[in-house]
Amino acid sequence: MADKFSWISEEFANLEKQGLRTAIRTIGSPCGAWMVVDGKKVLNFCTNNYLGLANHERLKASAQQAVGVWGVGPAAVRSIAGTLELHRQLEERLARFKGVEDALYVQSGFCANQAAIPAMVGKGDVIFTDRLNHASIIDGCRLSSATIMVYEHCDVTDAERVITENVGKFRRALLITDGVFSMDGDVAPLDQLFELCERHGVMTMVDDAHGEGVLGHGGRGIVDHFGLNGKFDLEIGTLSKAFGVMGGVIAGHKLVVDWVRQKARPFLFSSAVTAADTAACLAAVDLLEQSTELVEKLWENTRYFKEGMRQAGFDTGVSITPITPIMLGDATLAQQFSRRLFESTPGVFAMPIGFPTVPQGKARIRAMISAAHSREDLDTGLEVFAKVGRELGVIG
Ligand code: PMP
Repeated sequence: MADKFSWISEEFANLEKQGLRTAIRTIGSPCGAWMVVDGKKVLNFCTNNYLGLANHERLKASAQQAVGVWGVGPAAVRSIAGTLELHRQLEERLARFKGVEDALYVQSGFCANQAAIPAMVGKGDVIFTDRLNHASIIDGCRLSSATIMVYEHCDVTDAERVITENVGKFRRALLITDGVFSMDGDVAPLDQLFELCERHGVMTMVDDAHGEGVLGHGGRGIVDHFGLNGKFDLEIGTLSKAFGVMGGVIAGHKLVVDWVRQKARPFLFSSAVTAADTAACLAAVDLLEQSTELVEKLWENTRYFKEGMRQAGFDTGVSITPITPIMLGDATLAQQFSRRLFESTPGVFAMPIGFPTVPQGKARIRAMISAAHSREDLDTGLEVFAKVGRELGVIG
């Protein structure tokens, strides 16, 4: 037995030597500006709870009520015996919110990419994909068996070159881009990519996981931000970030969404999201439709924190969204920085990101800003970042 798995011990030793073995922290409280992490109460800059909805009273009440009405689990795959009225209601509301014809609600954002990409392209087709697209897009592309062609990050000229040279050799073509890139916080040139794809008859898909609830009018997302409502063929989203709950969404033209509903294996062969999660998502859509207050607070906090970090002397990279990388370069320094933040009084929870998630020499701390942060929280965060920055010689 020991011999059979000695390769795992060797792999672990290898990961540890490179500082790449992931330590998973244990959370002991609901997600908010402050959280109990590994038994210590710390200021949270780590989660994707952009609007502070993960522990919002209205979402919790809605989930609790749904458990009373529907029970805890649908006990079925949606296409067989499990599409609740609530699932359809959420899909209709999400479609309306995004200004598209239809939407399909699946188990997660990761799942949405596994569901949508292989439904749209297969052997004999081609996918044009940004070099820095999310892992769930990369895996969805591989699952599809289509030919994968990578263009340089956010580089429309390179995308045009790759498309022009290759599009004629394949049956169908699909371009996929993240809307907001999760490690740098930069935004895809969606308008130019759309125009390029229109010219070459390429289908378009954007993963808006970090743009929903953040960009566009009242958080309607990146497509709304660029004024392209209803034009992108497929909009992928997650309900686990700004919406504060769980689940993924595939939205777009009715014909396309109907096709994905017929073909997507995670929809056809995996059980449905619970009524409680679905009801909480419905409450999140209600909140976003009723008021832009949380989205405005998120942006006010983002501007304040970024300006504070810049004034302190930190390099916050190219981000134009609430994702705030604090560029450090060296991976060991980033790990040390994160550990010191956590050990400070008060402690700050912000994780280091290094290779292979980002290129060698581009290690960073990633601070995620939320509408749940008060001005006082942000000031506390800025003070602790500056203290650790000075101690480690990152700033003067
Ligand atoms: N797409 C992108 C761009 C993401 O950043 C993430 C989450 N890290 C996902 C998809 C997956 O979303 P979920 O957590 O809902 O599976």
